[in-house]
Amino acid sequence: MVASAYAWVEAAVAFFPRLQQWQSAVRDALLEVGIGPNNGNTYEHMEGTKVGGSTFDEAGKRHTAADLLQHADSNNITVLLFANVHRILFAPPESGSPPKASGVVFSDSSGVRHQAFLRQGPWSEVLVAAGAIGSPHLLMLSGVGDGASLRAHDIPVVLNLPGVGKGMADNPANAIYVPSPIPVETSLIQIVGITDFGGYIEAASGAQASLSQVVSLGTVAPGLRNEAVMLQYAEALKYLPHEIQRILGQAGVILQKVDGPASSGSLSLNEINIEDSPLVRFNYYSAPEDLFTCIETTRVVQQILNTEAMRNFTYTSFPDTIRRNAEMIGNFMPANLDVITLAEWCRNTVTTIWHYHGGCQVGSVVDKDYRVVGAAGLRVIDGSIFDSSPGTNPQATVMMLGRYMGLKIHQDRQ
Ligand SMILES: Cc1cc2nc3c(=O)[nH]c(=O)nc-3n(C[C@H](O)[C@H](O)[C@H](O)COP(=O)(O)OP(=O)(O)OC[C@H]3O[C@@H](n4cnc5c(N)ncnc54)[C@H](O)[C@@H]3O)c2cc1C
Repeated sequence: MVASAYAWVEAAVAFFPRLQQWQSAVRDALLEVGIGPNNGNTYEHMEGTKVGGSTFDEAGKRHTAADLLQHADSNNITVLLFANVHRILFAPPESGSPPKASGVVFSDSSGVRHQAFLRQGPWSEVLVAAGAIGSPHLLMLSGVGDGASLRAHDIPVVLNLPGVGKGMADNPANAIYVPSPIPVETSLIQIVGITDFGGYIEAASGAQASLSQVVSLGTVAPGLRNEAVMLQYAEALKYLPHEIQRILGQAGVILQKVDGPASSGSLSLNEINIEDSPLVRFNYYSAPEDLFTCIETTRVVQQILNTEAMRNFTYTSFPDTIRRNAEMIGNFMPANLDVITLAEWCRNTVTTIWHYHGGCQVGSVVDKDYRVVGAAGLRVIDGSIFDSSPGTNPQATVMMLGRYMGLKIHQDRQ
């Protein structure tokens, strides 16, 4: 069922990109440094170098999970756009029975509050799919979570489930900016190198891609990052003369991601309103094995920069324009960093690759059918149930999970 659910999603929203010059060079460089074999175009997760699937089609149009709605029975589904669920409702408690979800409180696109109730019957359920941050947050605000923490926020405890918000993890990413003497195409992730030690190497390129990526990447060490500094950065970049923007924007980015990761943290409430973000801590690189993987992957990236395949895309010595703006625009990696410095580099330039997950993990919050443990009529089906980020990029697996569970629930009802 899982395999056919992947195939169903792939047929609906996945395409293989046609590689251009920068992505082809990174592929050749990966192979040159021994990240083989060349697995060509494949959706499979296998060691070596491959071209992965993309949600952009040949015409450059992006496809999303919303495309899958065209397969829904339109008589049987109502989609509310810009609606916000504030709380899951539970039926009045019955002694000896688990708390049973009965509906939700939500606000519509105009901010008007409503309640929606489940139809009576054994199959009616609330399926929460609010993502790794949204789902544990919503459960907590609905009274499902660590009892003591909920009480500290004056939230009535419906179900004491301390695992909610635990095991929050975000795969650490580190990226380097590679200014190119020759033009590069605009590209997002296409080529991926999958090593045998848990490091994944990906690439992006082009004026927009590079500059906007670099702005959001770790040009400032984590301890020094704050909103004011990041805004200052973004403003400074915006006012660079056009010619300099052009030269600096002609660049590639090589990103590396740590599989897993082993490091994790937690999510806790800030305010008791769904619209206020909760507090999240990922504890990047707190587990030594994550740091080890970063160091090893960085060594491979260093080799990549010195390959024959990359020769045309790297400066032998940086022009003054780049040198003068180097510190501001991104991470350059000196070739001769040793292990201690590499560890510092990993820590100081860590950023998100946006693959955060956990918070409602299988075993502690949900069971193997994704039912909330100790509750009735309530499941969580999204990236919050993962204890590690699947594949090099998780989106395909999240979509597969939706299709797979949809069919499974349907089957169970028959
Ligand atoms: C900037 C960025 C780039 C990424 N790039 C890639 C990539 O290139 N490839 C890849 O594979 N993955 C990528 N990812 C990761 C991927 O998007 C996620 O892993 C995936 O979307 C997680 O799916 P999900 O269903 O768990 O959560 P989400 O996709 O976040 O879905 C949760 C949904 O619930 C809604 N929601 C939350 N709370 C509420 C509420 N209270 N009421 C109503 N609705 C609510 C949210 O608006 C959202 O639509 C990227 C993520 C980000 C943020």
